[in-house]
Amino acid sequence: MAETFDVVIIGSGPGGYVGAIRAGQLGLKTAIIEKDKRLGGTCLHRGCIPTKSLLWTAELFHHVKEAGDFGIDLSSPTVNWPNAMKHKDKVVTKGANGIDFLMKKNKVTVIKGHGRIAGKGKVEVTAADGTKQVLDAKNVIIATGSVPKSLPNVPVDHKRVLNSDSILQIERIPKSIIVLGAGAVGCEFASIFNHVGSKTAIVEYLPALLPIEDADISKELEKIFRRRGIDVHTGSAVEKVEHTADGVRVTMKVGNETKTLEAEILLSAVGRSPVTDDVGLDKTSIKTDRGYIKVDSMLRTSEPNVYAVGDVIPTPMLAHMASSECVVAVEHIAGKNPQPINYDLTPSATYCYPEVASVGLTEKKAKERGYDVKIGNAPFGAVTKSAITNESTGLIKIVSDKKYDEVLGIHIIGPHATELLAEACVALKLEITTEELAGTIHAHPTLSEIVHEGAEATLGHPRHF
Ligand code: FAD
Repeated sequence: MAETFDVVIIGSGPGGYVGAIRAGQLGLKTAIIEKDKRLGGTCLHRGCIPTKSLLWTAELFHHVKEAGDFGIDLSSPTVNWPNAMKHKDKVVTKGANGIDFLMKKNKVTVIKGHGRIAGKGKVEVTAADGTKQVLDAKNVIIATGSVPKSLPNVPVDHKRVLNSDSILQIERIPKSIIVLGAGAVGCEFASIFNHVGSKTAIVEYLPALLPIEDADISKELEKIFRRRGIDVHTGSAVEKVEHTADGVRVTMKVGNETKTLEAEILLSAVGRSPVTDDVGLDKTSIKTDRGYIKVDSMLRTSEPNVYAVGDVIPTPMLAHMASSECVVAVEHIAGKNPQPINYDLTPSATYCYPEVASVGLTEKKAKERGYDVKIGNAPFGAVTKSAITNESTGLIKIVSDKKYDEVLGIHIIGPHATELLAEACVALKLEITTEELAGTIHAHPTLSEIVHEGAEATLGHPRHF
């Protein structure tokens, strides 16, 4: 007889595995199904974690090359790429072991194989050797994530034209690289290869790098990328990619002009597609829109007792989003009446160099929503701590509402921006005013003083610039 579970979660990325932990904590009998060899999903194996490990190697190399400025003499440092990859793999393995431990700790049954809804309250799992088992599920959560998209005129062969999965396996540093797509993934890889010495170009169809960020932040990033020697091509539509004797040639349209670029390899980083075509949706009432599953504020789909979370739904494709969504779904299943997610407060973090991080509304969005906005900008140069590490480029931009002084958005580009964002997240969650933010004492000397400086700038009396 099939085993009955309160919740069966299909997919073990940051959506699925975090939801499984919460389900275990709430005493729900839980199973998680994963088709990969290890638990952890895109985030752990092909996304957030391996990229940040390589970004750290790249950034460290950049600092080591500058060590002389800080009074440390090092002769000709070089990057040992195989060792950088080994470190990345070690971090990933540690993460996967950690998830295995957490599944045991929370009494979650882990089933390896491909999961599909097989009718009301049934999930079929096909193991790698083809054997099948059927589980009885009072509730199902679809957390099957996403895979890299590619453009029809830029086919990925994983040799000269790679995607974010295959580039994480390359055996040596390319002499040159063209990154196609300037979203978070593209900007992060451009930073990695620029720092480790590849001649780097980045090509974006839209007029700005990180097009979803505030326009002033995108402009600042473009300025800094150019200064660091990254060849930036925004507003550029790729027409074709050809193989040359030793690499690739990209032909693109920029306005009325045609331009070409050549490099050893090309990274296609043009977005991701939800994985929803082989999870048994045909056995449900669920319809998809461009592959995405529609859900309500409790992450319920149109099919009773079937939920969907993470990259398969049309909300920001971020690990912390997937985790938060799955926790809401699980708590709803457990009858806990969770708070719906306020998507306006989704933190966004890009770990390029310098980092970019934001929460809340951009200036443009705030205006579109009818706010009479007040803006406060402060440069990192105003914060002494940034001079200590030679990282004075970048700025903070605070968007607030003139009428009630409420902070609507905080946007940072600069050193450790992704860590500095935590204060901004709490501030916005608590509906802080710029006066309250400026009245909050920040320790000196810290990079967090940029937040204080930005709040004071909004009020018209910055202290240090
Ligand atoms: P996934 O992590 O994609 O996991 C889905 C899992 O489901 C996979 O393990 C898959 O094998 C499994 N699966 C699929 N179908 C089935 C099936 N039928 N049966 C069984 N198992 C199945 N986000 C951030 O917040 N911060 C970052 O720094 C960041 N960096 C990134 C860098 C890169 C290069 C990439 C590509 C992404 C990055 N992301 C980042 C995005 C983040 O990885 C995703 O938003 C997140 O992993 C989505 O989580 P998920 O649980 O929805 O799906």
